[in-house]
Amino acid sequence: MKPIETNKTHATALIDRFGRVQDYLRISVTDRCNLRCTYCMPASGVLWQQRQELLTLEEIARIARIMASLGVKKVRVTGGEPLLRKGIVGLIRELGEIPGLRTVAMTTNGVLLSEHARTLKEAGLSGLNLSLDTLKRDVFQSITLRDEFERVWKSVETAIAAGFAPLKMNVVVMPGVNEGELLDFVELTRTKPINVRFIEYMPFKENRWDKRGFVTYEEMRRRIEERYELRALPETFTENRVAEDFQVDGFVGMVSIIASMTRSFCSSCSRLRLTSTGSLKSCLFFPAEESLRDVMRNGASDQEIADNIRAVVQGKREGHPAPEELERTNDLSMIEIGG
Ligand code: SAM
Ligand code: SF4
Repeated sequence: MKPIETNKTHATALIDRFGRVQDYLRISVTDRCNLRCTYCMPASGVLWQQRQELLTLEEIARIARIMASLGVKKVRVTGGEPLLRKGIVGLIRELGEIPGLRTVAMTTNGVLLSEHARTLKEAGLSGLNLSLDTLKRDVFQSITLRDEFERVWKSVETAIAAGFAPLKMNVVVMPGVNEGELLDFVELTRTKPINVRFIEYMPFKENRWDKRGFVTYEEMRRRIEERYELRALPETFTENRVAEDFQVDGFVGMVSIIASMTRSFCSSCSRLRLTSTGSLKSCLFFPAEESLRDVMRNGASDQEIADNIRAVVQGKREGHPAPEELERTNDLSMIEIGG
């Protein structure tokens, strides 16, 4: 891709050197978690940040407002586990009131969701992704190192009842762990308004990823199509979507596959990430570029913060290294980055 001049007619939009509009912000609201998923948290553990290092809810909302004034249309609240953050419902409400933000979504592990699903809906949460990698209690425990399957399953039902339908269900497919459950997840979509999203396993610090063993998009499709005919759904979403969507005829839900490793989404990437400590990242796989927290706490105006955001966007790289390279060089875990 050849760098282009920023389009002057989009004076406020965030457009990088490769012409990619940056209009999607993922916000990590905490680095804490009540599960210990082995694919996300390194075996050696992580050092939790001190409370004062984390952005306050007011600081998060301020950054979101500035981002929206720069053309960001969608935010996703994530973590760590976002429902562990005190005041999260109020934050969702506040984000929902920001002019220009059309979508306020959340990704959660579901452990605490059944208590919050209705309030989150009322607060204006427009989309929910629930991560559940297995339908078996013992496998759940071996993946997450916690015995919380029953609570998460209850949350699936509560979330659907609260109006989060179709409910997006993130499934990281791991060789020798849950790869044998692909068909069971597809079967769920027969009667439930669930969009099962199979995700290729990505390499992070000490997360046991192995390029010889990870289950690819092609392999997932092959296995599913041994039993079900998948009808590809037309591209109903924006062009920068990362999932390919399918449906089995007559089934209520949907099946998506996210080829995060074998297909590159870089050419249409619209994502920025704000870590729980307020660092802004333009790519999942590169270190954070700027501490918006420090800029803010040094008394910067909104305009100055916006200038810092623009500088990060201008530094966004064209793409990320190949998976094998990432496996060697990645020294951050998903939980430290913020999913
Ligand atoms: N705790 C919440 C949860 O689990 O949904 C939100 C944070 S979690 C880091 C966000 C998403 O990242 C989850 O859907 C999780 O499955 C995904 N994830 C974590 N590590 C991953 C990996 N190595 N490869 C692919 N997806 C991963
Ligand atoms: Fe926690 Fe989510 Fe990471 Fe699992 S994937 S350890 S639930 S942050």
